[in-house]
Formats: sequence, C-alpha cells, structure tokens
Amino acid sequence: MKPKLINSIEEMFAIRKHLTGVIGFVPTMGFLHEGHLSLVREAKKQTDIVIVSIFVNPTQFSANEDLSEYPRNIERDIELLTDLEVDHIFFPTDEQMYPEDYKTWVDVDKITQVLCGRSRPTHFRGVTTIVTKLMNIIDPDIMFMGEKDFQQLVVLRQMAKDLNFRTKIVGCSIVREKDGLALSSRNKYLSPDGRKKALCLNKSLLLAQKLFSGNVVSSNKIISHMTDLIEDNEGIIDYIEVLEPKTLEHIPELISGCRIALAVVVENTRLIDNIKIV
Ligand code: AMP
Repeated sequence: MKPKLINSIEEMFAIRKHLTGVIGFVPTMGFLHEGHLSLVREAKKQTDIVIVSIFVNPTQFSANEDLSEYPRNIERDIELLTDLEVDHIFFPTDEQMYPEDYKTWVDVDKITQVLCGRSRPTHFRGVTTIVTKLMNIIDPDIMFMGEKDFQQLVVLRQMAKDLNFRTKIVGCSIVREKDGLALSSRNKYLSPDGRKKALCLNKSLLLAQKLFSGNVVSSNKIISHMTDLIEDNEGIIDYIEVLEPKTLEHIPELISGCRIALAVVVENTRLIDNIKIV
C-alpha cells in the first residue's frame, strides 16, 4: 500500500491521534539512500507503524552553506519509501515549521560546540530545535538515527534525557559503499576523482583500528598517521578526534570502545565519518 503523504502539521496531529501500537519515526532531509533506508528497515522491524519525515531544515545550515543546492528528489523518495511499505511520510513546508514570527530555540550546552560545532556553531541548535518540533508533532515511541552523524546522535540523546522526552532513541550502524565510503547525500557533489579521494576518510579510520590492534595507543601518534594518509589524498582536515563516546571528551590514549570522528573537506565538500574502536 502507498504511504499516506502528509504535508500539514494539523493533518499529522489529526492522524497521529488515532494511531495505536508502537510508533517508529525516522527523521530525514530526503534524497534518500541506503543509509536512510537501513533506518527505515530497522523501524519496520521494531515498530508497528513507521513515519518518515522529509524536511530540509533551513536552521541547521549557516548562511555560507549549501541549503539552496542541497539535493532533493521527493518523487523518488516516495517510491523508495513505498517499496519499504512505510505507513506515513510527513513533509511539511518551511513556512509551517518556521512561520514569520518564529522565536524559540532548543540549545544543548558544550557538546554542541566541539567537533562539527566548532566550524558550524549554529548547526546543532537547528538540529535540536527541528527534532524537538518533529517529536512534538509525531510523538513517536522510538526514533531511529544513524551513527554516521555520531555527534548528532549524542547531542539528541542528551537533549531527550534533559528535556524528558519519552521517545527512545535507537542508533543504527553506518552504511557504506562496497569500497568503504560512508553513504551521504553530499557524495553527489564529488567528481569521480573526488569520489576516489574521499575514500581516505574510511581508510584513515581503518588505519587507526589497525594501529590500535598493533598496540599503538597514543591518540596523537594515531592522529598523525591518519593526517598523513588524508593529506596524501588531498583531503583538508577540519578535525580528527579520539573521543569518549558519551561525553565527546578528547581522550589522550585509545581504549576499546572509544570513537574516532573526523571531518574532511574533499573538493569543497565537507564529509564526516567515524569508527568505534574495538
Ligand atoms: P539526513 O537526511 O542527512 O539528515 O540523515 C537522516 C538520518 O540518516 C540521520 O539519522 C543520519 O545519521 C542517517 N544516515 C545518513 N547517512 C547514513 C549512513 N551512511 N548510514 C547510516 N545512517 C545514515
């Protein structure tokens, strides 16, 4: 059956009122790929009714970012979600989500100012605000998010805990191309040559794991080897950090279970990736 397409907040409220069972929610900005679809599949497995939102949230982009060029293809997205037998697709307009007199923001302290927050200082405020709004409108039992955006997942878990959201958040593994490139809507911006260069993100993370397995534990030493590999591929490093996975604090020595996260610019496209060190 075709998913029900819902493009007004009032209609979403009205429909939600009559939904019963476990409600699963997958928030997305559309232009769906296998990464998004893996979240939908997990939601189908764990819940009775699956709602996917498609909304390119303007408040998480800063003035110099790619909001107007952000890839969109709603028809294709609907087809993909129909194939997966999603129940509802919620795609509100900018005007509904942010009317002219809009004034309220949700802001998580500290952990939004590190990593991606350093080069994108208002980004997470946009993310936490839109996810709060979507959770208020949809009132899901479980929300499914990708570990690809690891900091986002940690920030939203903190927000949900601090603000007493009843929704449980499930983090899902990163989906990659066969050659290791993490799927991302932004990969579309890469030329064939840039696409090859972009493999340096995953390769450097695998190198870190290999070094750790060979008993190298110094974060600085490992970051230095990763830096060489990325720079050899003409990647411009925004950050590489070894992190305690709950607090996002930098740790000087790797331990099993820590995360390494990085952001690298390849051909003007900023890409992110991360790995759980085992
Ligand atoms: P976006 O449309 O970029 O806002 O992403 C929507 C959701 O899909 C977020 O929870 C992302 O973490 C998740 N996601 C994006 N890319 C991937 C991927 N390669 N693997 C797993 N989840 C992903």
